[in-house]
This record gives sequence, structure tokens and C-alpha cells, in this order.
Amino acid sequence: MSAQVIDGKAVAAEVTARVKQRVEALKSKGVTVGLAVILAGEDPASQVYVRNKIKKCAELGIESRRIDLPADVTMETMLETIDALNNDPAIHGILVQFPPPKQLDQEKIIDAISPEKDVDCFCDRNVGRILEGRIDGFLPCTPAGVMELLKAAGIDPAGKHAVVVGRSNIVGKPLAALLMQKNKGANATVTVVHSGTPDLARFTRDADILIAAIGKPCFITGDMIKPGAAVIDVGINRIATPDGKGKLAGDVDFESAVEVAGAITPVPGGVGPMTIAMLMDNAVRAAEKAAADA
Ligand code: NDP
Repeated sequence: MSAQVIDGKAVAAEVTARVKQRVEALKSKGVTVGLAVILAGEDPASQVYVRNKIKKCAELGIESRRIDLPADVTMETMLETIDALNNDPAIHGILVQFPPPKQLDQEKIIDAISPEKDVDCFCDRNVGRILEGRIDGFLPCTPAGVMELLKAAGIDPAGKHAVVVGRSNIVGKPLAALLMQKNKGANATVTVVHSGTPDLARFTRDADILIAAIGKPCFITGDMIKPGAAVIDVGINRIATPDGKGKLAGDVDFESAVEVAGAITPVPGGVGPMTIAMLMDNAVRAAEKAAADA
């Protein structure tokens, strides 16, 4: 039996269509949503991510401001750049493309961004709000994208056992927090497994909803999945191919998993498009809040 393949591109298109309507509603009140994107250095993957974000802004009528800093930029210059954007009323959201060059302190960068403009939802205040069940503000982009995909596929986490593989601050931890919210569309029983978990497959095989976010290509194989489970693959890994071109692979071995799972996301075309859609949602949310407070 082959699983239902969840089309992330289609769900992301629905989310961005709703975001676009809100951008237009703000425009009719004289507010143009402004998003600043800071990129330090020339990492090729980061360049692609930044280009995609800028392109999406243009599609939605969001004014983007790209700021390129040299690879050897000092922490002082980075903080001054952020400070200027914090104080710029035309900018509602600020994101710094990570990972930053080695000489920069990622935590200090996150701390420097005003929580009202922290559209990646990385700062302690915004993450803390989620843990407290206050989900009316920014939502962490990739985890929120996963929740939207589940909803669109008609998979209600309530009462289900959700197993999150990976505990990063960007994906695993905030996703576990969203899944366990005492709310409609959440209310799952959540297990988080990681590199310190012995016999990890014991947990994954018990998952009704299995989310892989580890950064190891094809790590989750069909024999680690409960028949009929929903499998969400967050991983994006570039792997070598015989023709030398390389290709993207998820953290799930799609070929074996699709035969066992009830529903599954592909890579590419699954979680990836959702992350950027949710980022746009956060940018509009920031502008709506700024307009309401003005
Ligand atoms: P991190 O490297 O920050 O975290 C990986 C997590 O997986 C860690 O908690 C680590 O455990 C755990 N892990 C690593 N190896 C194993 C293992 N062998 N067994 C069990 N657990 C393991 O990665 P991210 O969370 O940032 O990203 C995960 C993946 O998702 C990557 O492929 C990344 O490219 C992708 N990604 C995709 C996004 C999208 O938009 N689709 C957005 C963000 C990320 P420990 O904590 O013990 O080290």
C-alpha cells in the first residue's frame, strides 16, 4: 500500500494566498509590510535561501530590504546594522540568515533583534511565549509549517503519539511545544528522541505521527515506521549522485517509508515551501501588530 503524499507546495500556496490578502488589506490602510534580510558572507546555500525569501516577498507585495555584509564582518557592525533596523519604522521584520560566519555570536545576534521584529521566532521571549501556551504571536516557521501540513492533510494530532526525532532549537524543541499545546489542532502526546536515545526505533515504531528533523539523509527507514503513520520529513540534505550533480534527500528514506506510512511528505516539496510561507505570515503579523499599536 502506498501512502498519501502530502503536497507541501500546494498547502504553502494556500497559506501565501491568505497572507497576500492581509498584505493588501494593510496596503489599503497605507501600511507596506517591510522585511529586512541580513546575509553575512557568501555561503552558497544561504544565498539560495535569501534569494528565495526576497522573491517570495516580491510575489506577495512585501517590501524586502536585503543587506549583504562581508564574510569578515565584525560583531560590532552586525549589532549596529540590527539596531538601525530595530529603530526603522518601515521595517516590521528582521531576519539574519544563519549560520553566521564563525567570528559572529549567533546567540548575541538573536538577542539583539527586537522581539517585535523577530519573525524567525528565535528569541527567548517569543520561544518562551509558546511554552506558556501564548500562541497568538509569532510562531516558529518550520514547526508552524509542519502543523499546517498536518491540518491540511486532515491529520488531527489530538490524542495521538507524536514522536519528534531531533531536539534543535529551530525545529525539534519548538515543534514538540506546538504539538503538546492544549489546543485544537494539537493536544498530542509527545516524545522527543535524539542522539542520546538508545534504541531509537523502539519509539519511532510507536509513533502515530513521526517527524524527522536530524539532518541525516534517509535515516528513517520503512521498518522504523508504524503502518499507517503520518511521516513528516523536515530534513534537507544534499547527497552525491553518480552524474556528479547531486540531489536533495530528506531524513526519511522515502522509497521504503511510502510503502508503510499512511501519509508522508516528500523532499523537496514538503516542509521546505511551508517554512518560507510561515515566515511571510510572521512578517505580516508583525506589521498588523505595529499598525494596531500605532
Ligand atoms: P540540528 O543539527 O541543529 O539538530 C539535529 C538534531 O538531530 C539534534 O537534536 C541531534 O541530536 C539529532 N540527531 C543527529 N543525529 C542523530 C542520530 N543519529 N540519532 C538521533 N538523533 C540525531 O539540525 P536542525 O534541526 O537545524 O535541522 C534538521 C534537518 O532539518 C536538517 O536536514 C536541516 O537541513 C533541515 N531543516 C529544514 C528546514 C525546512 O525548511 N524544511 C528548516 C530547518 C532545518 P543531539 O541534540 O543529541 O545532537
